[in-house]
Amino acid sequence: MKSHYRVVVIGGGVVGSSILYHLAKMGWSDVCLIERSVLTAGSSWHAAGGIHALNADPNIAALQAYTIDLLPKIEEESGHNIGLHMTGGLTMAGTPDRWEWLQSAYRVFQSIGIDDCRLVTPKEAGELNPIMSTEGLLGGMWADREGYIDTTGTVHAYAGAAKKNGAEVIEQNRVLELNQTLEGWDVVTEKGTVSCEHVVNAGGLWAKQIGRMAGVELPVSPLKHHYLVSDTIPTLEELDFEVPMTVDLEGFTYMRQDQKGLLLGIYEINHEHWAMDGAPWDYGMELFQEDTDRIEKELIMGFERYPCLQDVGVKTWVNGAFTFSPDGNPLVGPVPGKRGYWSACAVMAGFLQGGGVGKSLAEWMIHGEPEADVYGMDVARYGVFAENKQYIKETTGQFYTRRFVMTYPNEQLPAGRPLKMAPAHSEMTEAGCKWGASWDLEVPLYFAPKGFEETPSLKRSNAFDIVAQECKAVRNGVGLLDISGFSRFEVSGLNAENWLNRLFSTKLPKPGRARLAVMLGHDGRLKGDLTLFNWGDGTWWIMGSYYLRAWHMRWFNDHMEDGVNLRDLGEDTAGFSLAGPKSRAVIEKLTEGSVGDLPFMGCGAFDIGLIRAKVARMSVAGELGYEINCRMGDHIALRRALLEAGAEQDIREYGFNALLSLRLEKSFGIWSAEFTQGYTAGMTAMDRWIDWEKDGFIGRDAALAEREGNGPAQVQVTLEIDAGNADASGYEPIWKNGAQVGFVTSGGYGHTVGRSLAMALVNSDVAAEGTVLSVHVVGVERKARVIPASPYDPEGKAMRG
Ligand SMILES: Cc1cc2nc3c(=O)[nH]c(=O)nc-3n(C[C@H](O)[C@H](O)[C@H](O)COP(=O)(O)OP(=O)(O)OC[C@H]3O[C@@H](n4cnc5c(N)ncnc54)[C@H](O)[C@@H]3O)c2cc1C
Repeated sequence: MKSHYRVVVIGGGVVGSSILYHLAKMGWSDVCLIERSVLTAGSSWHAAGGIHALNADPNIAALQAYTIDLLPKIEEESGHNIGLHMTGGLTMAGTPDRWEWLQSAYRVFQSIGIDDCRLVTPKEAGELNPIMSTEGLLGGMWADREGYIDTTGTVHAYAGAAKKNGAEVIEQNRVLELNQTLEGWDVVTEKGTVSCEHVVNAGGLWAKQIGRMAGVELPVSPLKHHYLVSDTIPTLEELDFEVPMTVDLEGFTYMRQDQKGLLLGIYEINHEHWAMDGAPWDYGMELFQEDTDRIEKELIMGFERYPCLQDVGVKTWVNGAFTFSPDGNPLVGPVPGKRGYWSACAVMAGFLQGGGVGKSLAEWMIHGEPEADVYGMDVARYGVFAENKQYIKETTGQFYTRRFVMTYPNEQLPAGRPLKMAPAHSEMTEAGCKWGASWDLEVPLYFAPKGFEETPSLKRSNAFDIVAQECKAVRNGVGLLDISGFSRFEVSGLNAENWLNRLFSTKLPKPGRARLAVMLGHDGRLKGDLTLFNWGDGTWWIMGSYYLRAWHMRWFNDHMEDGVNLRDLGEDTAGFSLAGPKSRAVIEKLTEGSVGDLPFMGCGAFDIGLIRAKVARMSVAGELGYEINCRMGDHIALRRALLEAGAEQDIREYGFNALLSLRLEKSFGIWSAEFTQGYTAGMTAMDRWIDWEKDGFIGRDAALAEREGNGPAQVQVTLEIDAGNADASGYEPIWKNGAQVGFVTSGGYGHTVGRSLAMALVNSDVAAEGTVLSVHVVGVERKARVIPASPYDPEGKAMRG
């Protein structure tokens, strides 16, 4: 062990080894991995080794596909056998909704380029896997690139290939302490102290403690997990092929062949956490006693699905632990506020995600950004609220239990809720508000009559008419929306204007004005679709998506300059927005000032009734509208005042479901759909907001290169779809003459225009208005047409009126 390395990776499981490999492979060979015991000594040695690409987040599915492709390469590079059995895989559906969902998932796979899948009937599935009973199954999906690997061999292959590229592996050496230095970190180990620029927490079951060594509380917890390996099964001895890896979604089991027996893994409905503060330091390569009572129900289903199990004994029980984050996706990337401290933990499926995690983390460290959009696994997608133990327990437990349970797009899950509620929450609930969660905050979805319950559905739900009424109220009268669920950052100080000019590619608004502000990464891809407010008194606001608060804050802080004061107002500020042709009449009733004269995109401080508010004339709904920001404590008073003043105009409260429909009719993009860090300004038409005259903003060179090049290969369009009783939601493939030409970024029903709409990224040669295309909506191919942007009020007269 040397006294200094560029990077120290803590943990020799599959994740740490993959990171080491990717760093060394990409040219950073002055790196070492420090392992408490021996390689694989955490969760990795006893994993079932299953590999498959299915994941609800398409970006993560793509990284899983990368891992699967990588595995044979590291075997070759390292010379270590990884025991790869590419048996192919089946994912089986046992209810009509699940079967529909699987058909949609198959189409999403096509969208993201995973092209080795096909749908199969139960009969075909039974032929592919002859030991499976097809009783109760409605269909399945086959994938060529699924199977299993030898877990120990795979970790050694990553580590061996890393060593061949110059990296070092140090075993039997526990990291005891981490101390931040000016240059990076001092890593205190049993064998002495090493200094490094970057330290990576790949501590798996011990990630919690390695976080705490640096003062970081990671939202991660281990849970126990069972699988069994059966004795030899005569039928398998007779077959001249291996049965495919098979997931029975409704049965809560996964299965693969293990020599001439079966390995049956169970996602227990009745889950069990273990060592929430991290595994004990003396926890060796040991297992827990199997708990067959706890998994009885799933076991029965498993033995019915694979009847041959009923005739043989169980050779081995494995009850081990592995780690989960609240949403089940890994926690990867630079930890906010801890320079040079990187997280690579909560990797729930290390053998199928480890390659993608290693690649992304290494790119991030070396180049400043990963190539893929890894927001779904970014450690900064959570805030302080997720450090709470009860929150972690509820959410990780919910994820585990629901691992194979279908979640409908309109379903609101209960774990970790309600947490933060804006002050008017109780009164709004009384008024019929149905809530969803954004980050830690309850946000209004729609207002329903007493006793109304929404049915979970892949198609239009029974809340459709309610949302239609809310849209109508906004378009024809005036609607009131709680906008506590926007993020707000205050920027001030002598250098504020310079800093904002560097941060944003857009021209800054003049005093008393607001402006859509595009934030780019150094590589020219998007970092934010924010709104900038110049209040005219030396203070500015940046407003954006609430759930990106910590993610944006990390970016701001990483690019901070002297003379800038930055404050996240998210805990102090709330607000309501008025939208609709009658909104001016409502707000004017409440103020003596000239708020009614505010020009479109004008902003300023006004008295609204008793409340001192910051008001801006804008609306995401595309109507005449006002966003009224108040102190958190004024929220109830503001709502009451606006409802009272609006009574004459039949003001109606509405929620974000209606807002999503209204903004779609205006072709206004939103983050995580039309805009992501995977897209450039040119692809998303955000380049129209760039101030090309301005020097020195982040991402300028890359944006300029895109502008001066041949133009983006894909561009954004608005579609109308002959959609039947379901609307597109995102990532559905778009076709022209049988060839895939793009995918949907978001979709929904436009209640004012009476059409099913979608926004999409398509190849530029099919982007012309009137082009006829087709889209798979909930698995069914539907006709679609490219239409002019903003099907409602294309000239924007309503919002400027
Ligand atoms: C029963 C079971 C079945 C599974 N099946 C699958 C499957 O089929 N497919 C799949 O992809 N995944 C599966 N998994 C999950 C998989 O095991 C994990 O995702 C993976 O092992 C996580 O790897 P890791 O490197 O993050 O953590 P770990 O394997 O836990 O590695 C962390 C390492 O860090 C070391 N360490 C900790 N603290 C220190 C310290 N202070 N100093 C030095 N070293 C330290 C530990 O000794 C350990 O070796 C399964 C898990 C279980 C329990």
